Amino acid sequence: MLKVTAGRWTLFLGTSMKKCNNCRELKPLKEFTQSKRVPSGYTTICKVCTCTRQYEWREHNRDKTRSAVRRYNEKHKDRVLAKCALYRATSPQYKITTKNNNDKRTKSGYKKAWTATHRANKIKATPKWANLEKIKHIYKGCPKGWHVDHVIPLRGRNVCGLHVETNLQYLPAHDNMSKSNKFN
Ligand SMILES: [Zn+2]
Repeated sequence: MLKVTAGRWTLFLGTSMKKCNNCRELKPLKEFTQSKRVPSGYTTICKVCTCTRQYEWREHNRDKTRSAVRRYNEKHKDRVLAKCALYRATSPQYKITTKNNNDKRTKSGYKKAWTATHRANKIKATPKWANLEKIKHIYKGCPKGWHVDHVIPLRGRNVCGLHVETNLQYLPAHDNMSKSNKFN
């Protein structure tokens, strides 16, 4: 590899390497964006540095970024709407989200009613001797994606459990929802 320095330009002859002006690392040419503005034909800073800089700029200028997106969406309304329609029609993730949103369990009214009833049941099922501090601690320590479950359900078919610390356990959210008020 031959290194030629002329003024502020450094050329590496017989190689496809280039030095990034930002991170100062020697990188292969494919790590740089092609640009007609500079004599070398490639941007002076590497793709990684370009991305980092852009990201930082957007973080510091959130309002500008937001209004730019809004302007773009308004100017290219048809294109954006078509893209959204395509996403709705083809994305598997979109189908899952819509299905979940339409599921009666997650419809807000149903959910609110269920939460309210459950809260009332908990109050009714809490004896005077229950250790409220311990119960609070159990609810606070519940890992993400898990539910606090009543081992013996508060309103079971055959038995009714109490809202006390010894009747509580952690259960994965999915298992808890399929358990309902069954107790085996
Ligand atoms: Zn770089």
